[in-house]
Amino acid sequence: MLKLFLLASIYIFAVSQNDKAQIASIQFKVIQNGDSDRRYIWLHGDEQTARMALENHMKRYKGKAFLVQGILRESEFFGGIIDPNRIFSSDGAQANIQKYNPKWTQRKKSESLLAINKDRKSFFESIFPPNGELLVALHNNYKGYNIYKELSRSDANSIKKDQNPRDFFICTNRSDYEILSRSPFNVVLQEKPPNKDDGSLSWAANRNEIRYVNIETRLGWLSQQKKMLNFIEKNL
Ligand SMILES: [Zn+2]
Repeated sequence: MLKLFLLASIYIFAVSQNDKAQIASIQFKVIQNGDSDRRYIWLHGDEQTARMALENHMKRYKGKAFLVQGILRESEFFGGIIDPNRIFSSDGAQANIQKYNPKWTQRKKSESLLAINKDRKSFFESIFPPNGELLVALHNNYKGYNIYKELSRSDANSIKKDQNPRDFFICTNRSDYEILSRSPFNVVLQEKPPNKDDGSLSWAANRNEIRYVNIETRLGWLSQQKKMLNFIEKNL
């Protein structure tokens, strides 16, 4: 009986360890498979195709995945809302707090900004992979967004004739780009920091010299996103 109790305690300890992460009030579920340095992140709760692709992937392959909690694009934030992909720089977060919560007092705006700024470094330590490994973000898009919108801020691109322009990789590392450009899929390289940092994760990865790949696909195209994820698993 005691042995059973001990086993149960060890099990509870193992699964409860590192199973959550957060930045300010924005919560993430953490899925860990093995001890690989590879990291994955899903940031927009309404992009359910990307969540399914990632959860499916984590059952088979090693790494650590961070999944935002909630099913809406914007996360609950001190009684207001915020876009979780605009908090990764102070300027970006400040603009985003203003955009979504314009009626807040100056004091509340600055206190909530302070809360994000305070947590950012430790959150980066959780999600940025060590040892030069890769950080993979998964997103889905709706009508109106496609690879052509990224060309003006990209350093190189490879657009395939038989691929939908709404399905593409964005990467920050030139060696990764060389491999992805030889894949069946569309890809852009963004290796230089932008003129204006909007607070998105891609630019934070860029600034911190993290190898980052974003897999963008149309919402609902699960098999396409799985194929792109598998290509990364096998080739990067
Ligand atoms: Zn997204």
